[in-house]
Amino acid sequence: DHLIVCESVVRIFQHGPIEVQALQGLDLHVTKGEMIAVVGPSGAGKSTLLSILAGADSPTAGTVRVAGWDLAKLPANQRVGYRRGVVGLVQQQTSRNLIPYLNAVDNVVVPLSLSSYPRRKRAARAAELLDRFGVGYCARRLPGEMSGGEQQRVAIAVAMANEPPLLLADEPTGELDTTTSHEIFETLRATSAEDGVTVVVVTHDPTVSGQVGRTVAIRDGRTSSEVLRHTEELED
Ligand code: ADP
Ligand code: ADP
Repeated sequence: DHLIVCESVVRIFQHGPIEVQALQGLDLHVTKGEMIAVVGPSGAGKSTLLSILAGADSPTAGTVRVAGWDLAKLPANQRVGYRRGVVGLVQQQTSRNLIPYLNAVDNVVVPLSLSSYPRRKRAARAAELLDRFGVGYCARRLPGEMSGGEQQRVAIAVAMANEPPLLLADEPTGELDTTTSHEIFETLRATSAEDGVTVVVVTHDPTVSGQVGRTVAIRDGRTSSEVLRHTEELED
């Protein structure tokens, strides 16, 4: 039962006379509740793939289906619905994930407000989410008063507030030290395992492969099957 089906996905960027083929026939299937790491050299197409899965960009050709949504044919006026209903997104730069003048609780309240979550229950629900991701003690702090790791945990709480089936993370630990990175990956892994959330993480960090179900390597805009690594056996 696949949450994500990508078949022969092509994304061409046009720069005046120059064509950049960011994705050149990419295939990827991700099962519901699976956690995968997407790795590959700079320029391989990882960010492009994530943008498409996030509903922020569209493929030039090919099939992209996520949770029953046909993203290759998604009309512009349905993008917001897709993003709010299906996707939680955590970006590398902590400053892109949180609103700097809102404290942690209020940052988590933002997506709850957009989803018509009952007004009077929002703050309690936000506090509960912060607790769950290990940053309950940061509730009243502004992003600038938290460490990078704490900010990313709050960002995960924001992303998961409306319980999306898909969590996308673009190098969420790119600005963090190794120990903190492993803790964040462990949090993502637990979210996937306990809540059945499908998690796709783009990372440069090869040491996290033991913490994910599967590592998918992308090269020149394609998944390179020879380096596909199934790491289930490393889990226990
Ligand atoms: P990665 O995330 O693996 O580093 P990207 O998906 O960012 O790779 O980029 C893949 C290729 O597509 C690169 O050659 C990049 O320069 C190009 N590219 C990505 N986004 C754009 C864009 N918005 N406009 C033009 N070219 C782009
Ligand atoms: P990453 O570090 O995740 O690979 P990049 O620094 O490659 O990200 O890209 C950052 C942003 O710039 C992305 O939104 C990407 O789509 C866009 N981008 C990347 N390459 C190009 C390019 N050649 N022209 C225009 N935009 C680009």
